[in-house]
Amino acid sequence: MSVPGISFNDGHQVPWIAFGTGTALYQQDATEAVKIALENGFTHLDGAQMYNNETTLGAGIVASGKPRSEIFVTTKLTKLQSGQTAKTALEDSLKKLGLQQVDLYLIHSPSHHQGPGRLGQVWKEMEECQSEGLTKSIGVSNFQPQHLKEILEVGSISPAVNQIELHPYVWKSLQSVLDMHAKHGIVTSSYGGLSPLFREKGGPLDPVVEKIRSRLETTRGSPVSDGQVLNKWMQQKKILVVTTSSKPKRIREYLDTINVPDLTPEESDLIETTGSKLHKKFFVSQLRTI
Ligand code: NDP
Repeated sequence: MSVPGISFNDGHQVPWIAFGTGTALYQQDATEAVKIALENGFTHLDGAQMYNNETTLGAGIVASGKPRSEIFVTTKLTKLQSGQTAKTALEDSLKKLGLQQVDLYLIHSPSHHQGPGRLGQVWKEMEECQSEGLTKSIGVSNFQPQHLKEILEVGSISPAVNQIELHPYVWKSLQSVLDMHAKHGIVTSSYGGLSPLFREKGGPLDPVVEKIRSRLETTRGSPVSDGQVLNKWMQQKKILVVTTSSKPKRIREYLDTINVPDLTPEESDLIETTGSKLHKKFFVSQLRTI
């Protein structure tokens, strides 16, 4: 089973859904989880220096027996130590991952690179990582419009992607950053997309998700989960979804989202208008377990 892709502005393709090794796997041994995700059909792994588990992410790839060419690997630059650059930090990551090259390298958070001109400088170092072949694509995470503006002013290329907290309870507040993505061809990527289901149980979205899930089940003639409703909402918008699970059944279910019937425009609107009734971010501090 191949996972459909989204096109980056640099010509590369990225599988629309990624298995994350932060949150539940933060600072944990990711070997088994990564192996299970790959064996069950995931082809995109989302790691980060900050997760402190790149070595076991790499071990999971080896344990799965999957060829490197079939896997898309993302990692993210954390706060730089003195004397380090984005390039030396990526070289360190590659050693840990046991890889020659990653597919995507992101600046994890603008809050890690503060001071006048600092973000622009780091972006130029990211561009060097790409031109030297250490990564195929480069992008950012947790960037607001002012951060994007700062790097677009000094950079030679636009980021391929901006990975941000995205779910219906923050959707309305994201409009300015989404407009900037559209203007510069930046792919929007979501983390924490399923938060309404388990980080805010009993919220206004619950009955809406249930109603849509039930309609989709009838149309499809087979089970549809709540998670698939929210993942479908994002997939239809060409959002790159970053999720995770400890359960093989749920992993297969995430991938099966592609086979779920489309939401109608009215159903998507209902998710968005209901989400706007409760503005809630779950990843307030970008330095939490992300
Ligand atoms: P999601 O919001 O998709 O949540 C995934 C979690 O949801 C899993 O742990 C799963 O648990 C649980 N889950 C799924 N469906 C249900 C349900 N119906 N009821 C209860 N629980 C459910 O993603 P995360 O917030 O976990 O983030 C995913 C990845 O995104 C991270 O691992 C990381 O790679 C990346 N990330 C990046 C950040 C950044 O700053 N760039 C910040 C945060 C995350 P179960 O194991 O039970 O299936």
